[in-house]
Amino acid sequence: MNIILMGLPGAGKGTQASEIVKKYPIPHISTGDMFRKAIREETDLGKEAKSYMDRGELVPDEVTVGIVKERLSEDDAKKGFLLDGFPRTIDQAEALNQIMDDLGREIEAVINIEVPEEELMNRLTGRRICEKCGTTYHLVFNPPKVEGVCDLDGGKLYQREDDNPETVSNRLEVNIKQSKPILEYYEDKNVLRNIDGAKDINDVTTDVINILDQLK
Ligand code: ADP
Ligand code: ADP
Repeated sequence: MNIILMGLPGAGKGTQASEIVKKYPIPHISTGDMFRKAIREETDLGKEAKSYMDRGELVPDEVTVGIVKERLSEDDAKKGFLLDGFPRTIDQAEALNQIMDDLGREIEAVINIEVPEEELMNRLTGRRICEKCGTTYHLVFNPPKVEGVCDLDGGKLYQREDDNPETVSNRLEVNIKQSKPILEYYEDKNVLRNIDGAKDINDVTTDVINILDQLK
């Protein structure tokens, strides 16, 4: 099951991914998470990625494609994967095609979670994340049982630096421009599946699972 999750920042990709991996034995591979981890661990990759991320720019394709290629060849991705945040450019999409060809596999579905822009601002500014396990909460839409504390492991919840109103509007604008050609690319390949992401979290999960169950 080789799946790509698409959607603007705040659409619910991370939230849906954590539900999907509970049901199917495939890893959630998020390039943003991989870069943030490398930055925390102060690796060479982290240092390079940080200089771009701090400016709100994309990390160069050769770096990003390199880490995705490596990650997709790991054992746990043999049965499939859920890609989130990649591809972000047509060159990355072409590179992914080549990687899939080399592995004798293909992208089976591109699930695009659609949410109106004005709703995304509310979602992103209220987002909180567990520093231990990465589980995502929302102050209003999906609050933890105890304020500031993860339900699953008691980890402290933090707010991403770029989840503030000023940065969010810029990220949305940039992302809308970037994602358009990618969506068209996969529409042409007949694998694009648009879903209504404005519904409640559980209802969106049901819609995603309905699509995935048809692929089995
Ligand atoms: P993405 O990974 O696409 O950027 P997230 O999964 O991190 O998005 O979700 C962004 C924020 O919106 C989080 O705070 C999350 O709890 C909340 N959220 C996700 N899906 C929904 C939904 N269907 N309804 C309301 N809030 C949601
Ligand atoms: P956002 O919610 O802003 O889309 P992500 O967590 O997906 O956040 O990505 C954070 C940053 O990591 C991006 O702004 C970009 O600098 C870098 N990044 C993530 N994925 C890619 C990619 N596929 N290509 C290039 N840069 C990427």
